[in-house]
Amino acid sequence: MNDAAHPQSAAGPSTVSGLQARARRVLAHLDAVLPDVDALYLDLHEHPELSGQEARTAAQVARRLEAEGYEVSRDVGGHGVVGLLRNGDGPTVLLRGDMDALPVEEKTGLPYASRARTEDGAPVMHACGHDVHTACLVGAAAVLARSRGAWRGTVMVVGQPAEETLQGAKAMLDAGLYSRFGTPDAVLGQHTAPLPVGTFMHREGVTMMGSAHVRIRLFGRGAHGAQPELSVDPVVLGASVVLRLQTIVSRELSPLESAVVTVGHFQAGSRANVIPEEALLELTVRTEDDAVQARVLAAIERIAKGEAAAAGAPAPPQVEVVNRGPVNRNDPELLRRVRDAHAEWFGRDALVPGVLVTASEDFPFFARGPEHPVPTAYWYLGITPRKTWEEAPGATPQEKMAHLPGPHSSRYAPDRAGSLRGGCESLTVAALACLHGGDASPDH
Ligand SMILES: [Zn+2]
Ligand SMILES: [Zn+2]
Repeated sequence: MNDAAHPQSAAGPSTVSGLQARARRVLAHLDAVLPDVDALYLDLHEHPELSGQEARTAAQVARRLEAEGYEVSRDVGGHGVVGLLRNGDGPTVLLRGDMDALPVEEKTGLPYASRARTEDGAPVMHACGHDVHTACLVGAAAVLARSRGAWRGTVMVVGQPAEETLQGAKAMLDAGLYSRFGTPDAVLGQHTAPLPVGTFMHREGVTMMGSAHVRIRLFGRGAHGAQPELSVDPVVLGASVVLRLQTIVSRELSPLESAVVTVGHFQAGSRANVIPEEALLELTVRTEDDAVQARVLAAIERIAKGEAAAAGAPAPPQVEVVNRGPVNRNDPELLRRVRDAHAEWFGRDALVPGVLVTASEDFPFFARGPEHPVPTAYWYLGITPRKTWEEAPGATPQEKMAHLPGPHSSRYAPDRAGSLRGGCESLTVAALACLHGGDASPDH
């Protein structure tokens, strides 16, 4: 059994009070660090960068990690940043924050709202809260660096690019993240959620569904709109593919298996009186299980080919899986450790019962170690201002969240001070729950 399963078994206090004392000692530095965390957050919020273009954000992260004494590597799998702090014998704990923004026009009305545009004029906004993640990552890295007497082990800070396109984590791993910097014993990540600020949500097992983006190109035979007998109409073919795809979830899966198949893009033709030659469908697939994902993808291909054959298409369709994110599954032991640590630090009342999120993440790629799976834990950080939460209609958290702007909304507006403090503390406390205890000497 590797060390990660019992990160504290070799040395250091593993008692509840031991963690409290260490967390108090490390987080005593937080008040000194928070003004810079806030400055970084504002800067990132006003200067969001799309997936794959995070050069400015990455430079800010790298500079701050260096200033705290981390060994920093830049451009790991795109704009990825890796900071290492080796601090004696003990487990290696990877802290991950994603850095990219979305092509969304901000409508929060905040004084620091993004007015950023790409060179083509498209609006850009941190609508998924990755600016919170990145600022808190730097904050946790800073307090850990300033309290090296309180813990032992290695902290690996990862500023990840291109999460929204589900490419960045894999790109960093493909660029040798684990072979160059070591395979971690635990990987920790958090995401903002429209829960009340100061609350945290953990879910055992699958916490987010796996996703796949599928593109189907259907080939027909074009003709004058008045002469359908000369055509193989790809619009009709595409329509029957769309309808038949609905039977995957309703007829091919068990009622106990969850999946979503959505055709979000259907494009064909340009004129009312021209039967086009092709149709393009783009789909998103969400599943709670990687094996179900494989079955759904196989069914999509079978249906596209079968319908094309039935229509007499001149060529079989091209079915391409553009990208694919695995299910985000928490390691049971690590998740329990993190949740217990959060319960101890924030109080049991700060934890809300976990629900499965149908959105997806590329975080689970970090579980792919070269030799064996790496334990990962991922939790949600509440960011909705208390007053906004109380005024939202609904009796249950789910009803309230349905009325509140969530990730990817142009009105997603985290409570600034509360989210930053909560995010720094939750990441730091989770890291300490995995690292070994330190000595009694004062911090430097
Ligand atoms: Zn997102
Ligand atoms: Zn996100």
